[in-house]
Amino acid sequence: MADTKRPALDVTALLRRAAGALSERVGLSPNVLSERSKSLRPRTAGAKKTPSVCPYCAVGCGTSVYTRDGAIVDIEGNPDSPINAGTLCPKGSATFALHVNPARWTTVKYRAPYAREWADVSHDWAMERIAQRIKDTRDRTFREHDEHGRRVNRTMALASLGGATLDNEENYLIAKLFRNLGTPFIENQARI
Ligand code: SF4
Repeated sequence: MADTKRPALDVTALLRRAAGALSERVGLSPNVLSERSKSLRPRTAGAKKTPSVCPYCAVGCGTSVYTRDGAIVDIEGNPDSPINAGTLCPKGSATFALHVNPARWTTVKYRAPYAREWADVSHDWAMERIAQRIKDTRDRTFREHDEHGRRVNRTMALASLGGATLDNEENYLIAKLFRNLGTPFIENQARI
């Protein structure tokens, strides 16, 4: 028996075509464009588009990341996302500058006690230094009982403040780490 099922009507494609046709006209007259305007191309023309997620907050807005020759050339709201439908708040709109920004530091900075200047140090040196300082602090300040004899197993000398670009998995690991170290102070700059 022949398949009599009619193909589904693609309303979105029809609306896009209608909008494109209308944008070429002003009322009943053809829209007048200068030669320069005709030659202009979007900054994302020819770029590869990859769907992604805004790194900042738990709303989870969808983004479109445009790359050309392996480099990010733009990040915009993803109109296909059911969460934000192409919109982004001011923080999400600035995601491109989070990645591509000549003013952004790309090395670890360290200012030694009493030093007036910051110095570049290696990542390995910084990680070792941080680990050693945390261990020294915890060894000095960890208490099994408080002044009333109640078991507390804590140190009041360590705290964690997470940044808004930390994702769920990173925050999970940070909470695990600092709870195991025994600090009750675990905060996150989740959204400002
Ligand atoms: S920071 Fe803004 S754009 Fe990013 S997920 Fe949150 S609301 Fe969306």
